[in-house]
Amino acid sequence: MKKKALYVATFGCQMNEYDSLKMVQMLSPSYEVVDAPEKADLILVNTCSIREKAENKVYSLVGRFKALKARKPRLKIGIAGCVAQQEGENMVRKAPYVDLVFGPHQLWRLPELVARLESGESGIVEVRLEERPDIPLVIGELPGGRPVRAFVTIMQGCDNFCTYCVVPHVRGRETSRPPGDIIEEVRSLVDQGVKDVTLLGQNVNSYGRKEKGGPGFAELLEMVASVPGLRRLRFTTSHPKDLDDAVMSCFAGIEQLCEHLHLPVQSGSNEILRRMNRRYTREAYLDKIERLRALVPDISITTDIIVGFPGETEKDYEATLSLLAEVGFDQIFAFKYSPRPFTKAAEMEETVPEEEKLRRLNHLLEFQNRLGLERLRRFEGRDMEILVEGHGKGGAPNLMGRTRHNVVVNFKGPEELIGEFTTVSILEAREHSLKASSIAPPSVRDGCTRETHIA
Ligand code: SF4
Repeated sequence: MKKKALYVATFGCQMNEYDSLKMVQMLSPSYEVVDAPEKADLILVNTCSIREKAENKVYSLVGRFKALKARKPRLKIGIAGCVAQQEGENMVRKAPYVDLVFGPHQLWRLPELVARLESGESGIVEVRLEERPDIPLVIGELPGGRPVRAFVTIMQGCDNFCTYCVVPHVRGRETSRPPGDIIEEVRSLVDQGVKDVTLLGQNVNSYGRKEKGGPGFAELLEMVASVPGLRRLRFTTSHPKDLDDAVMSCFAGIEQLCEHLHLPVQSGSNEILRRMNRRYTREAYLDKIERLRALVPDISITTDIIVGFPGETEKDYEATLSLLAEVGFDQIFAFKYSPRPFTKAAEMEETVPEEEKLRRLNHLLEFQNRLGLERLRRFEGRDMEILVEGHGKGGAPNLMGRTRHNVVVNFKGPEELIGEFTTVSILEAREHSLKASSIAPPSVRDGCTRETHIA
């Protein structure tokens, strides 16, 4: 039987990318992925509401599908993810051409929901948040050739209620997946050629805390790293308050665990951290960075920053700048604050005008660009092992790969290297990447000149 055509548009974070892959795998018995919405029988839009800008993009894309549906009435349109959860019934009222709206906890019912669409139902809204949602094991072929990197969600939801964040309201309370399912999924990915796996969760450091007798996050890292054939292991996102010594020691003790940690700080001002309900101070954050660097001096640390949070004064903003200088982040992801529905911060008085938020954001990014470039210069002159992911800008012979530190490396080389590890000499640091040349024999393994100090 000829399969129907499925087009998936994904917005937002890596967890959404993972969820989209699971949607494709669940529907794969009767649908195959196409590369344009015009070719589709079913369009699924996996949405993100973490920032106002992301949400607006979703609405503008969904609006474009209205005309498509007018030309092709049998086309079905489904909206998944955080905006679907947030909007629920509203979405089909505002956009009656949308056939299906389903939230993150209903994702696993997709085959059943699509069957209902195919039997003629429309306007289906399934956005119930479960007390203890299930994340079933869905294993299948990876679409799009043989990717060398993949994500595995290990938990979902969040219990932290940072005052600016919509996640606990749209993804529900924190739940961890059984370790056996995670291992089985990683094994299946490695069998398909994946060499670099990133474990995902809103706050991976609290993995397993609610399950009695199961492994904690440090133990899970050990278990995943022991999957034969897995060469690189990463995780994201960590909450600074929950990053403990056991996990920090894993960077020194687990060979596969790459020297990169994304540790969102959000602000360098204690007053703003308090208003954000982050439950750590600038000093506690800096202390963890110091302890981590005592274990792995060369580790890359990246972070998220929000500027213009309600109440942020010029002095608070300067505290963030000084924190950036003090830590020496390899890269940051910075955003202007925007109020999100259901959150505590949305009830706070906005004190920073839009133009000032923009000024702070641009200034912060410029400031970090200089610091980040300086950090990347430490790699110049080194021979480093990279995993080659594909072509670089302009196509062959330009290739791009990634170091264990999660830095993109551009170099010229033969096509056969795609999907393989190789060693390159780093010539020059650019603002967010490295330029390399002269491929050394693959046997020369840099291992990223890992300096580890175990007490
Ligand atoms: S830790 Fe805070 S910012 Fe991160 S998902 Fe949970 S509530 Fe949101």
